[in-house]
Amino acid sequence: MLRLPELSMVRRLPVAWPAIAVGTLLIAWATCAQTTIELNPEQPRFMIDEGVEYLIEGPDRRLSLDDVRSPERSDDWTAISGVINFGFQRDAVWYRLDLRNTTPESLTRHLEIRYPLLTRVDFHHVVDDQLVTHYATGLAQSFRERPINYRTFVLPFSAPGDSSSQIYLRIQTNGSHQVPMVIWDPGEFLQAAQDDLLIHGMFYGTLLIMAVFVLLLYASIRERSLIYFSGVLFGLVISTAALHGTTFQYLLPNSPQVQERLMLTAIPMTVVFFCMFCASFLQLGERLPKANRLVVGTAGCMLIAFVAGALLPYHLAAEAILWLSAIVCIILLAVGGLSALRGNRNGIYFVIAWSTLLGGIIVNVLNLGGLTGRYGIIGMSLEGGAVFAAAVFAVALGERFRRETAAWMREHKKHLTSLRRQREAERQVVESARQHRLTGLPNRVALEQCLQNQINELPAAGQHLALVMLHLKNFDDLNRTLGHEYADQLLTTLARRLNDGVVQIPQSMTIAPSSSDKPDHALAHVEGVTFACSFTVEEPELMTSIMQHLADNVQQPLDFEQMHLSVGVVCGCAYYPDDSQDVGTLLRHAFIAYGSADTDVRPLAIYRHDENLHNAHRLTLMTDLKQAIDNDNLSLVFQPQVRGDSGEYFGMETLLRWEHPRQGFIPPDQFIPVAERSGLMPALTAWVLDKALASHKRFEQAGLLGTISVNISPVNLRDDGFLELVRSTLEKHQVEPHRLVLEVTETAAMREFERTLKVLRSLNDLNIQISIDDFGTGHSSLAYLRRLPVQEIKIDRSFVMEMDRNQDDLTIVRTIIDMCHNLGYRIVAEGIESDRSLQLLREMGCDVAQGYFIARPLPPDQAESWVQQSGTQHSGEQ
Ligand code: C2E
Ligand code: CA
Ligand code: CA
Repeated sequence: MLRLPELSMVRRLPVAWPAIAVGTLLIAWATCAQTTIELNPEQPRFMIDEGVEYLIEGPDRRLSLDDVRSPERSDDWTAISGVINFGFQRDAVWYRLDLRNTTPESLTRHLEIRYPLLTRVDFHHVVDDQLVTHYATGLAQSFRERPINYRTFVLPFSAPGDSSSQIYLRIQTNGSHQVPMVIWDPGEFLQAAQDDLLIHGMFYGTLLIMAVFVLLLYASIRERSLIYFSGVLFGLVISTAALHGTTFQYLLPNSPQVQERLMLTAIPMTVVFFCMFCASFLQLGERLPKANRLVVGTAGCMLIAFVAGALLPYHLAAEAILWLSAIVCIILLAVGGLSALRGNRNGIYFVIAWSTLLGGIIVNVLNLGGLTGRYGIIGMSLEGGAVFAAAVFAVALGERFRRETAAWMREHKKHLTSLRRQREAERQVVESARQHRLTGLPNRVALEQCLQNQINELPAAGQHLALVMLHLKNFDDLNRTLGHEYADQLLTTLARRLNDGVVQIPQSMTIAPSSSDKPDHALAHVEGVTFACSFTVEEPELMTSIMQHLADNVQQPLDFEQMHLSVGVVCGCAYYPDDSQDVGTLLRHAFIAYGSADTDVRPLAIYRHDENLHNAHRLTLMTDLKQAIDNDNLSLVFQPQVRGDSGEYFGMETLLRWEHPRQGFIPPDQFIPVAERSGLMPALTAWVLDKALASHKRFEQAGLLGTISVNISPVNLRDDGFLELVRSTLEKHQVEPHRLVLEVTETAAMREFERTLKVLRSLNDLNIQISIDDFGTGHSSLAYLRRLPVQEIKIDRSFVMEMDRNQDDLTIVRTIIDMCHNLGYRIVAEGIESDRSLQLLREMGCDVAQGYFIARPLPPDQAESWVQQSGTQHSGEQ
């Protein structure tokens, strides 16, 4: 019937959650010696650890006070000392305490059973074999029935002076059977109870405020670990309150069952929150995925324990929860330690906080068992541990947010920087769409927008907006001579110099490539080698001097790559609102103006309405030219060429003439560009070639055996049908191909070099000769020229015409002759206007001579007779 307490301890573990390990250490031990408890007024608080005997009732029969006091049972009593802790002992246990009051006065005392979770407590105080006090209390009873309204069982009794008395306690509980007892002086108890209330109030208050604060924090920043943390805090409050009996005292005084279940469910729920908090706080998902699974799994188990706590019989649920909680403690501590070892700062905080809380729990249990001594601060170890842990977690969370916020700020800053870069790149793209790729100056688009703005802001009267176009002359030649890279550099340098010059003119207007006004731009790069700038002037006449200033600026020699270069320029100017009412017309008129200025004589031109008419007139010229070709209204003249050494007839250059029915003679220099631009060139060349070869046939038949030179335009070289045209025309007139010399200007030959090379090779393959016309004006590189299949070089007439008077020209002509001879070309000098020039050329060994001094271009008949007559005339000079 009787069970030894040691046995029951070994089989069952104490329920005082979670002091699993400690419980076993606190096993009460039986002793044979029975001592009497002296009630001493000097000792207002007496912790009972000996002088107690117990008797286990067993499940079969309920014993009464008389039963346990009967002499037959006197042997069944066993003395016990230390902490009374039977673990899961469901049978009722009787306790007997022998008290002795040695003082003459009667002493009133409170027996406090400090474990609040006992189902039934029956208290009997027997003085002189008389039952003087009896209380039936316990969790099964309503709280209101307690003799003293306190969270633990406080049972007052009175011991008369100089007397012995006994206390018989019958205790039965569904949970852990622990009976720590203290005998109090009532005054002392009141004081201690007040202290306890204050400290607990502070504890619950602190944790609750923290929990609410964290919850509010969660509502604003939605960080999940906060809601778990808040759950932990609430859980801690409820669990400790339930464990200490506070909930029973204040919240559930009439619901002992609910109080019982509250404890069984609050603890597992707190552990669930704690596991989730651990996983989220330590960022296990990212840092330690395996540990994360373990912790989340643990939380799952605790959730089951929560359900078990609500449904299973009390002792079963309590035991399961105890076991599980103990395991979870170890797991969480290990996970926190591992996380700390892996360098997670939160891990360190976690271990500190968690071990403090755990320490608090252990000390609390030890205290409960009386091992750590007395009531007071030590008795608050669980609460203290919890508050400290909560504080550490709060600090750690704060620190984590601070770190995360800092990291977020860094990321955000990075993001902002990259966004700014992207914007800048976009702005540059937009800007580059308004900038000239090469010089970085505003382009035509930007110019048009700026002009529009300038027009909009122009005062109503008295002001004129002048748009000046500047076009660099012969830049193509520089391109070829210098190569594209250097020519581009040169153009950029020139553009910069010109821009600086324009900026300094007070009347100049800013032309910005973008909305971000760059006042240093007053020049636009319209296209190729054409620039534009605008001015506001009161008197339009001022523009002539401004334009001259600009032209001088451009034409100023430039030291470039150890060369002394000078670039020519033509300028055109148009006015708003005088002769152009909108930006489009203003631009067009400025173009027309510089177009009309395209001469050495008048490089600066101001738009005049009649020049535009002239342009319209050019249009009619085009239709007239077409008609002239169709109606054979054109004619050819032939300019004879003679051998330099012998003066013998060498050949004829064909030159085109157009006698316009209304406008009279129009020089080829004027109508050939029109033909080139209007697509008439193939037809025109076909016409010239046909007539030239026909005449040549006649010359041959008249006995003039020589070459026939025909000028061709670069447009012809780009025409796919050209080769076939030449071949078929030669065939038509039965002219031997080697008699035909096709003259291509130096600049034309250099344009689209590879394509020209191909065409000229094909012509050469047909035995047709190629001549480079106007040699010396195009600055072309001889190295390039040598790659072309060329037989003849014609020195430009500008060098020849004045070589008899101009030493520089003479030197140039001599150099060209020497150089080209060395390369094996035939040299033709055209534009010989004097005897002296002819003599000089002869001395230099020039192969062929042509010019007014020898003969002017002549109609076919006259040319024929000239040759026949000159045969004697010139042979005499040889
Ligand atoms: P070019 O091929 O250089 O023709 C030579 C030009 O010099 C001719 O002018 C000729 O009249 C002129 N000339 C000849 N000897 C002298 C001289 O001693 N002194 C001076 N001051 N001038 C002389 P023209 O006929 O006015 O032709 C001008 C240009 O028109 C030609 O220059 C040529 O490029 C082009 N051209 C003429 N006819 C044709 C043609 O049928 N087809 C093509 N594509 N172009 C042509
Ligand atoms: Ca020519
Ligand atoms: Ca020429």
